This record gives sequence, C-alpha cells and structure tokens, in this order.
Amino acid sequence: MARYTGAVCRICRREGKKMFLKGDRCFTTKCAIDERNEEKRKGTPGQHGMSRKKVSEYGMQLRAKQTARRYYGLLEGQFYHYFEMAVKMPGKAGENLLFLLESRLDNVVYRLGFASSRAQARQLVLHRHFTVNGQKVNIPSYLLKAGDVVAFTEKARGYDSLKALVEQNSGRPVPMWLSADKENYKGSVERMPVREEVDLDVDEQLIVELYSK
Ligand code: SF4
Repeated sequence: MARYTGAVCRICRREGKKMFLKGDRCFTTKCAIDERNEEKRKGTPGQHGMSRKKVSEYGMQLRAKQTARRYYGLLEGQFYHYFEMAVKMPGKAGENLLFLLESRLDNVVYRLGFASSRAQARQLVLHRHFTVNGQKVNIPSYLLKAGDVVAFTEKARGYDSLKALVEQNSGRPVPMWLSADKENYKGSVERMPVREEVDLDVDEQLIVELYSK
C-alpha cells in the first residue's frame, strides 16, 4: 500500500505542531520543534518556509484536514472514506470522523502503549503480532468496538524486542476509554471516546466544511 516515506519531522514543521510521528524521539529535546530544543527549527520547511502569509478560510480548512490525515498516517482516499462513513452515522460528522479514526486497530495498539508510533503499530499489526477477541488480525484499519480485546499473540509475547517495546512505552498514559493490562500484553476497548479524550488539536468542523463544498 502506498504510504508517505519522506522525512516525518517535516510534517510537524509544516503543520506547526507536534504530531508524534517518530516514536520516542518526539518526547525528547531532539524533536525538531520541541520548545526545549535550542536549535528548534522555526517556520515551515523549504526554501521559503519562513514566510507566513495570511491564511484564507479554505487554507484553514485544508490545514485542519491535512493535520488530521497525517496524524493518523492516512492517504487522501482512505481519509475521505472515513468522512463518508462519518456523515452517515448519527451525531456530528466531525466527531464521528475522529471516533472512527481512533477506533482503528493500529491507533488502539499505539494508544495502549504497545508501539512507539502509529507507523510502528501498523507494522506490528501487518506482521500478525496481534489478536482481536482471540483471532489473529493483520488489518491496521480494522475498526474496534466497545468490548473488543486486543492482545499480542502467544508467539509475539516471547519476543524480547516486543517485551522491551512495551516496557519502553509503559510511562505513556493510556486514554480513559481503553484499559491496558501490560503484564499480560493485552488491552480492551471499554467504550468509544468522547471528543475531549481525543488529543488531536484541530477543529474537526473545518474538515466537514472542506468536504461539504
Ligand atoms: Fe514531530 Fe516527533 Fe519529529 Fe518532533 S520528533 S518533529 S514530534 S515527528
């Protein structure tokens, strides 16, 4: 499947915010846009990156969509597919969109602290290291629902590298809508999140406006 393979820190610089795309490095002062980094790179990337023009309404809508899409590591077509699903669901389309994105298996693996980034979570899922309700699932876009249990496979639990990965991410807080049992290498979806529990810093209504034109 096609995927963005360029320098991920450029994405954060482009959006002007931390998107946590690079795993552990994102939590250190080595992060290119971390406030504590004295060599912090200012402005957007590229030759003319320092110039900031006044942003149009369309520009703001586009940036909101790009931020959300890149945060979850999706291509345009995949992202739009979630929007189409979101508008058919009861409730607010923008919030539904975020809830759908949050309920992807790769995102939940990351949120549970079983991977350092969504990109790494996607790789682990593709390599068949997880089960959902006891069945092996290797589809990163698999949508989870309340009550689903995600666990490392028996084989994966024997890998020192995966044990170290879980240990390494044990300090990262797990959202309230999930529960993690790291000793047993599993976690579950307690309920769907509410908007305040999704830490994505965008106005999702702008995405709805963009796609509704
Ligand atoms: Fe973004 Fe992480 Fe790179 Fe910082 S280290 S710029 S948060 S991807």
